[in-house]
Amino acid sequence: MAAGVEVIGHPLVQHKLTLLRRKTTSTVDFRRLLGELSALMAYEVTRDLPLHEVAIETPVGPTTGHLVDGKKVVFVAILRAGIGILDGMLSVVPGARVGHVGLYRDAQTLRAVEYYFRMPRDMASRDAIVVDPMLATGNSAVAALDRLKETRPRSIRYVCLVGCPEGVANLRKHHPDVPIFAAAIDSGLNDHGYIVPGLGDAGDRYFGTK
Ligand code: URA
Repeated sequence: MAAGVEVIGHPLVQHKLTLLRRKTTSTVDFRRLLGELSALMAYEVTRDLPLHEVAIETPVGPTTGHLVDGKKVVFVAILRAGIGILDGMLSVVPGARVGHVGLYRDAQTLRAVEYYFRMPRDMASRDAIVVDPMLATGNSAVAALDRLKETRPRSIRYVCLVGCPEGVANLRKHHPDVPIFAAAIDSGLNDHGYIVPGLGDAGDRYFGTK
């Protein structure tokens, strides 16, 4: 596996991903599974977040504990399919802030054009976790990270469910400092830009638009 890519091999992640990939999985089940997978992946992705020590009282006596400052975490959804990952991640980091990046591909220039960008204030003190279910060509991911870096977050991680070698190479080339987390890296892209075997169009399957 390429450097900087962590494939989350946890049995529950792999089990749910397999159910998600099935073409017979209904929209209702796709939504539920994507939520469950996102929550499980959040554990891995947040593994090295900073903790701070706090003094607390248990019913039995004083002790010191450790807390994550959830408000310092920003989940950044790449529209539109990234929205499907938010609820699951927010279920385990409920205090996190949420940013959105909307991009479309210009038919003439084939370049990613931004139509929406909204982040919380004070990004310099926050850890950004960019989410998009599919890392296909990687062009949207690269453009989203280019733009996100202008806000100078304290750290950036990138999370997808399914990636492919082309997308990983593109992202690693342009943003080698950003670690990538995935549930699977598939074999490649077909002529229509879909990941093979992938799971089809994640946005259409999540929103039921096909
Ligand atoms: N986007 C998707 O939703 N699926 C793919 O396979 C590739 C890009």
